[in-house]
Amino acid sequence: MNTPDFREIAHSGGRVTLSKTRNDQGQIGLNLRFEHARPNPASIVALYAIQPGIPVGTCRSYGIGVAEFPPLPNAFVTILSSDSESRFGRFCDACNHYWRDGGAFVDSQLFCPYCAARGQIHEFLTQAQRNYLQHYASCVSEALQADVGVSVVIDLDAIADTIHNETERPRFYYAEESQQNRFTCRACDSFNDVIGNVAYCSCCGSRNDNDLVRARVNSIRADLERGVDPATCLRSLVSVFDSAAKHLIDELVRRIPLRPRVRASLVNRTYHQLSATVEATKKAFDIDLLDALNEEQQRLCVRMFLRRHVHEHKGGIVDNEYIEKSGDASVKLRQALVEDRASLLQLSEVVVRMVANLVRGFHDIFPPDAAAIARRRRGKPPQAQ
Ligand SMILES: [Zn+2]
Ligand SMILES: [Zn+2]
Repeated sequence: MNTPDFREIAHSGGRVTLSKTRNDQGQIGLNLRFEHARPNPASIVALYAIQPGIPVGTCRSYGIGVAEFPPLPNAFVTILSSDSESRFGRFCDACNHYWRDGGAFVDSQLFCPYCAARGQIHEFLTQAQRNYLQHYASCVSEALQADVGVSVVIDLDAIADTIHNETERPRFYYAEESQQNRFTCRACDSFNDVIGNVAYCSCCGSRNDNDLVRARVNSIRADLERGVDPATCLRSLVSVFDSAAKHLIDELVRRIPLRPRVRASLVNRTYHQLSATVEATKKAFDIDLLDALNEEQQRLCVRMFLRRHVHEHKGGIVDNEYIEKSGDASVKLRQALVEDRASLLQLSEVVVRMVANLVRGFHDIFPPDAAAIARRRRGKPPQAQ
């Protein structure tokens, strides 16, 4: 589905019916029924909450007939529904950012796509979902105070029908909002919808940098094919590397305690000074950007990054600095550099490889959730229902 950025995605609807029960021993209980009959996709997750609607756990057994002890004796089961695209909105209190995903295993932890904070489903609720839980809790109280057989209904179908009129929305209605980059995780096939581009997969914690870089490099290759100035394509390729390296190295620096001198060698710099970047990442993180590149590819890479510098800052005219640093004997001082398509195509492959090396090293340090990947690969649905 092609969803525009920052568009409201309506609630999936459904009806929750709560009613008090009393067994033969006179013990009071609460009966919960959930019905969904709208024609849009929908998923649900059951959460434990305590009064006045504070989420305290994720219920693993709702709807599958298995007894489970609630995390607190006075906790009750609530039903949280997805939006009408069967996605769930999430909010991370650690970094104050919102995203949507396609649902999570009820017994595993999610990753915040932006800061990699981990937590269970009930720890990543949006304020609107929390408002809904408060309303739900008040309905639980109402049902328990009513006579046996009297039902209290939370009719989200009726509300979903009136969402076009802001004034008719009760406070507990929650909708979600599409973000900017909707992607499927290559490792676990989970859906993610995040603001910006670079992110961790919410389900397994894999980074999406490789896919973004491949897409950008393919677009530059297409530019080259349709006759865009090769020097412009060279600048674009180096820029793709620079921004991918910055995202990954900034994240490593943020998450790994480093001695000040090592930290200073990595932050607030441009990563297209290739030799210095290669040395710094090797020293700080034992990540070899040039891993699996043969000598010819390494030489090409260093030379092309230096040529970019000449195009960017020297008007494309060869100077002594370029000749000294590159050892390029094929050009003369004051010569205007001309880029060829074959070298750019080779460089494009090398850029993809170097970013892949950085991502692989990153995940050696911060591994994705292998169990979540294996479960998603087995085709098990993300929600317990
Ligand atoms: Zn976060
Ligand atoms: Zn994933």
